[in-house]
Amino acid sequence: MTSEDGVPRLFGTNGVRGVVNSEEMDCMLALRLGMAIGTFMKGAVLMGTDARTSNEMIKSACSAGMMAAGRDLVDLGVVPTPALQYSVKGGNFGGGVVITASHNPPEFNGIKCIDADGTEMSREGEERIERLFHSRDFARTGWRDVGHRRCSDTAIPRYIDGILSVTDVERISASPLRVALDCGNGAGGRVTPLLLEKLGIPYSTLNADPNGAFPGHNSEPTPENAKDLIEFMSQGGFDIGILHDGDADRTIFVDEKGSYLYGDRSLAIAAHFACLKNGGGLVVTTVGSSRCVEDAVSSAGGEVMYTRVGSPIVARAMMENNAVFGGEENGGLIFPEMQYCRDGAMAAARMIEIVAANGSLSEINARTPFYYQHKTKTACPDDKKKIVLSRLQEDAADDRVDTTDGVKVFFEDGWVLARPSGTEPIFRIFSEAASEERAKEIAEHYRKKVVGIIG
Ligand code: MG
Repeated sequence: MTSEDGVPRLFGTNGVRGVVNSEEMDCMLALRLGMAIGTFMKGAVLMGTDARTSNEMIKSACSAGMMAAGRDLVDLGVVPTPALQYSVKGGNFGGGVVITASHNPPEFNGIKCIDADGTEMSREGEERIERLFHSRDFARTGWRDVGHRRCSDTAIPRYIDGILSVTDVERISASPLRVALDCGNGAGGRVTPLLLEKLGIPYSTLNADPNGAFPGHNSEPTPENAKDLIEFMSQGGFDIGILHDGDADRTIFVDEKGSYLYGDRSLAIAAHFACLKNGGGLVVTTVGSSRCVEDAVSSAGGEVMYTRVGSPIVARAMMENNAVFGGEENGGLIFPEMQYCRDGAMAAARMIEIVAANGSLSEINARTPFYYQHKTKTACPDDKKKIVLSRLQEDAADDRVDTTDGVKVFFEDGWVLARPSGTEPIFRIFSEAASEERAKEIAEHYRKKVVGIIG
């Protein structure tokens, strides 16, 4: 894939990722990318990793490249991505680099860049780094100015203090709640047990030791990977189950009855209470998010703004529009009072606070509207994608339409989103409605419509 000016793309939606020691992610790539990042960023850079076995290798190579470009480095060791971001935000740094492949299987690793303000690097910033990487137009500093690396262990206590400062600790510690926590052997094991300790509630942990072989289960917080947590909770006495992904920027919840809450549920619940707390306000999420989010927000006097897919896009829109909350349906929740990025430990603290103040998680979930979804796709040649989009938009002139990313048409009882794939010659059709049949009907209707336009 290439960007609009023809430069081959290196960064995906969440940094540069690949199987370790393949050409996509080896130490030579890490070194060269380090030189590009070091040339792009100005000032000292914070570095951290998740728990993967290849972290030291990738980090060392990337660090050497950055130091060659004159960057001083502060190495935080194994930390959740949001903990590093909080330190970047709170200090005077040129940015941050996290060696992580988030939720990918153990053979993967990745390099992710954080902007000087602590948010995920914008697409524009990544493109500038990509151009430097390909042109090899690196800053090579003189011998006196080669960068140095020092270690620091202040990021985690600072991060935990930050979360506590925006959390009702008294209410939580006075509550009878008990928590079960599964860190999936990821970086969250360095933070969330300590956080729960400080919140003063009883808790039990699973897979809390960071271990890049992921002996417990893989690090994507899917229902499959939540089985152990749910099984553990079935012994009884737990009010909330918490499951992090590998770098603990995302959190998925299990209620006291052992039901797995998909990410749209926690997004809607947290959004609802953010609006209640702020007397309304704006919530930002991506255009594919469930209508349950909009319902939960409007019932608390707030409004929803939709963006294209990608957490950096959500975070920046929140910043520009002074939003009270935002996030994605994959368990990535963003709390502006803390920082403008997905924050797994913050999400855990907030959900505990919500349950402590409002009754059981299953009841809160049951009060949040539910919709059925249907997904389908159809072939579409790349050169027809634009025509299809404009025809769909014309056809829906009388309806409420959102064209942030593809064409989303809202109906009285649901919506449909038709979106061309960025990488394949297909159109994806995604619908939602109050019944399974209706959701399928809407999606099928639009699939046929797209087929008809292509001719
Ligand atoms: Mg992650």
